[in-house]
Amino acid sequence: MTSSLSSSSLSPDWLVQGAPHVWRPYCQHQTAPPPLPVVTAHGSRLVLSDGTELVDGIASWWTAAHGYQHPQLVSAIQQQAGRLCHVAFGGLAHAQASTLCARLAGMLPAPLSRVFLVESGSVAVEVALKMCRQAFANTGRPQKRRVLAFEGAYHGDTFATMALCDPHDGMHRAFVDLDDPRGPLHVHLPASLDDRAAVAALDGVVAAHAHELAGIIVEPLLQGAGGMRLHDASVLRHLRALCDAHDVKLIFDEIATGFFRLGARFALDEAGVVPDVVTLGKALTGGTLPLACAVARDDLFSCFLADDASHALQHGPTYMGNALACAAAHASLDLFDAVDAVARVRRLEGRLRDALAPLRALPMVRDVRVKGAMAAVELPPGTAPSSTTFAARGAFIRPLRLASADVVYLTPPHSIDDVDLDVLIGALLGALTAEVGGGRGR
Ligand SMILES: *Cc1c(COP(=O)(O)O)cnc(C)c1O
Repeated sequence: MTSSLSSSSLSPDWLVQGAPHVWRPYCQHQTAPPPLPVVTAHGSRLVLSDGTELVDGIASWWTAAHGYQHPQLVSAIQQQAGRLCHVAFGGLAHAQASTLCARLAGMLPAPLSRVFLVESGSVAVEVALKMCRQAFANTGRPQKRRVLAFEGAYHGDTFATMALCDPHDGMHRAFVDLDDPRGPLHVHLPASLDDRAAVAALDGVVAAHAHELAGIIVEPLLQGAGGMRLHDASVLRHLRALCDAHDVKLIFDEIATGFFRLGARFALDEAGVVPDVVTLGKALTGGTLPLACAVARDDLFSCFLADDASHALQHGPTYMGNALACAAAHASLDLFDAVDAVARVRRLEGRLRDALAPLRALPMVRDVRVKGAMAAVELPPGTAPSSTTFAARGAFIRPLRLASADVVYLTPPHSIDDVDLDVLIGALLGALTAEVGGGRGR
């Protein structure tokens, strides 16, 4: 399965043709190996140009929950393409977007009910920020405009969302201007309410800045791309109480945690907390088409109702409510509905927990964290094996490389079967034992 990974058949003409012209994401072009050329994919597997199959350990950045080329997803997109691909959402409506908004609202606890569709997660977070700030501006409190975010956070790659990401450890270190008095406030996220010092500091910051705070944003239960760090649901209930006490909006960024990744459909369900705005994305279309949304509560929405036209939410992406993407989202939600999605993830959690437990004994392993269909192994910075090493063992795995740690993680398709899960586990255990276990680093 793995022998030919470096052969020339992995350099198809189209890859060679594009190489001088394609600017890749988060890529140091001077040193990075060429990307792996994918020609098709099925189930949990990526098929490379030489026929090699790799099990995808990260499900295309957590999106491909049902696996690749699922016939129901493909046919929903094909059928919609035959009817209506896209119309601008300004002044026009279509069935796919209307019914999708109603369906998503129906899945979320009341009073979360107003869905704003966008084309990417970062933009969904931008819209959530705008909703909170403009709600205060519309109701005569424009000074409430700052947002509190947490160390270890990741909320996207656009400028406002980068400013919310971890200022020291995140991928956007170069862009953070901590001296900007109007920028976001960054606070340490208590892992639990037992962390008295962190809770006290948080309470103090919120009280001191309440007059200028529009919102608090958090990835509930799991901080994802910023390091796969978990916290207690009780922390989220505490945040809700703090926001209520100080008239601050609470934003849950569930772009990564939504749609059963951690077990429950949404982390807010597990926590029993209703935020003012929740953002969704990633697995929404099952890894097929770009779509995300911000969903707001009724009372927040009503802050935008006025005779004054300028009180309207000032946002409207060109591809808002794209009909193909909405049809794909419906099909993805149908697929979640068709199985016991919670039980399926619980089963993956059990298998990952058992299989990865032995890694704790390796001297270089700082921590092993498993929740739902997410497993993370934390290592000292600069020590995680490369993607090429994992690929040689039949898996596509892309470690997070932060300033304070390397984090090797698995977020496989929820639908992964035992054979493919064993490939991932074997690759992880094998590569870490061989490379890191001996303390040899890279
Ligand atoms: C991926 C992610 C985003 C950004 O979504 P994009 O679609 O990549 O813009 C924002 N927040 C969280 C929690 C994410 O995991």
